[in-house]
Amino acid sequence: MTLQVKESRLEEIQGDLLIEKGIRLFVKRDDLIHPYVSGNKWRKLKYNVEAFLHSGKDALLTLGGAYSNHIIATAAAGKEFGIQTTGIIRGEELTADSNPVLHFARDCGMELVFVSREQYKSLHDETGLQSFLYNLKHKTLNFKHIFLLPEGGFNELAVKGCEEIIPEIEIPFDYICCAVGTGATICGIIRSLKVEQQAIGFPVLQGEGFLQKQIEEYVGDKNNWSLNFGYHFGGYAKTTDELKKFCTEFSERNKIPIESIYTGKMFYGIYDLIKKNFFKPGATIVAIHTGGTSFIS
Ligand SMILES: *Cc1c(COP(=O)(O)O)cnc(C)c1O
Repeated sequence: MTLQVKESRLEEIQGDLLIEKGIRLFVKRDDLIHPYVSGNKWRKLKYNVEAFLHSGKDALLTLGGAYSNHIIATAAAGKEFGIQTTGIIRGEELTADSNPVLHFARDCGMELVFVSREQYKSLHDETGLQSFLYNLKHKTLNFKHIFLLPEGGFNELAVKGCEEIIPEIEIPFDYICCAVGTGATICGIIRSLKVEQQAIGFPVLQGEGFLQKQIEEYVGDKNNWSLNFGYHFGGYAKTTDELKKFCTEFSERNKIPIESIYTGKMFYGIYDLIKKNFFKPGATIVAIHTGGTSFIS
């Protein structure tokens, strides 16, 4: 039994700016991989689910914020495979009814454990997490039987799943762009890229030093990639009226829904860089639509 990742299609974007600059822009529609789950989250889970099923463990445990696409994905995979999942959610004041994400997760059968922001922070270090899980086990879980997925789902198996994006792209291209949260997706992309192709990541949060280093750790001495920190709009889920307007107009014009947390920032960045003649004339760009629009109205 393996988690199926449907191949997503490529669509070309039209527009005066693209014609004027002689740029071809394609979107790889990973957002169509699953009706609720961000495409890249599904890819990141593929080999983790496989490892879980071979591990003999009882439960898949992960953590995230109340709007986390990774929580949605883990809950959905749990339902699909009959796996018991537990989500440690940041925000003790929350309930399963407080938003559509948590509602969906609970309906998928995910057990939700709400913790304060303070406590959540302590889970980022290994000892803090271990002692939290140890205490938790007396209530709900048998700690030894837990398969732990890190926050945001970033691990080697997640990167492996994202290595499968590039081989699906059947056209020649010069640049590949994606939104960057933890960096797992772009790591997989970089690993599969040809040397003459460039990957450009658009981080959606501040974290200059950290992200750069984390990606380097996973891609070794490859250097045909870069992160552009010019388009995070102040941080995770931070937005402006201009960005929101851009997302609405882009979605309507191209009949491809985007949102302002991930793909909106990437497309805004791509268009801005095109205007600034960053890309070489005649270049073909492929932008990965990682999804994230299902729970955004
Ligand atoms: C999580 C997510 C990303 C970021 O992926 P990482 O592998 O964490 O860098 C990008 N887009 C969407 C829609 C996401 O949900």
